[in-house]
Amino acid sequence: MKIIMLGAPGAGKGTQAEMICEKYKLPHISTGDIFRANIKNGTELGKEAKQYMDKGLLVPDELTVKILLDRVAKDDCKDGYVLDGFPRTIPQAEVLDKELTKLGDKVDFAINVDVPDENIINRMGGRRACVNCGATYHVQFAPPAKENICDKCGNTLILRDDDKPETVKNRLDVYHKQTQPLIEYYGNKGILKEVDGTVSMNEVFERIVSILG
Ligand code: ADP
Ligand code: ADP
Ligand code: ZN
Repeated sequence: MKIIMLGAPGAGKGTQAEMICEKYKLPHISTGDIFRANIKNGTELGKEAKQYMDKGLLVPDELTVKILLDRVAKDDCKDGYVLDGFPRTIPQAEVLDKELTKLGDKVDFAINVDVPDENIINRMGGRRACVNCGATYHVQFAPPAKENICDKCGNTLILRDDDKPETVKNRLDVYHKQTQPLIEYYGNKGILKEVDGTVSMNEVFERIVSILG
């Protein structure tokens, strides 16, 4: 099963992707996590990506597509995966479709986690991230057992630079201009599933499970 998570930054894509991957035993592929891991390790890719991420802009398609295609070519992806944060532009979606078609394959579901902009600001300000293992928390809605420490790996949690209010506004603008058109793109392909993302994490997940079966 190949699943794409759509939604604004902070809508809960990563949270739901994690739950889906655990239940359906699929790899969770987040381009944002791949970029952050590269930044942390000081790679050339990380340096390049950081310039865009810090401004709330998208990393150029060419670079992002290459990273993603390399990742899904790995062995653990042969029975499917959940893409979280990719595609984010129409050209990215087109390349993915083209590559899958070559393999006689296709995306099965595009799940849009729908959350209005007003809720997003609060979600992002309270988000805490583990750069070591990719786990995500929220100070109010999903706090870790021990303040600022990752439950899964013990690393210190951070407020992402790009989750600061001045960058969040840019990211929402970029989302509306460049990513939102994907809703129509996948709608036209007949694989779009809309989910209300304003309810609790478990309620969102129940709805997704009812879609995936
Ligand atoms: P969020 O979880 O808030 O949606 P991500 O972790 O997915 O954020 O992405 C963080 C940043 O990484 C984005 O703002 C963007 O700069 C970059 N990025 C991630 N995925 C992509 C992509 N598919 N195309 C371009 N840039 C991306
Ligand atoms: P995305 O990957 O779309 O950027 P995340 O999954 O990282 O979003 O979620 C953004 C923030 O909101 C995180 O701090 C997360 O813990 C929290 N969150 C996710 N889903 C919900 C929900 N249904 N209700 C309240 N908070 C949520
Ligand atoms: Zn961790």
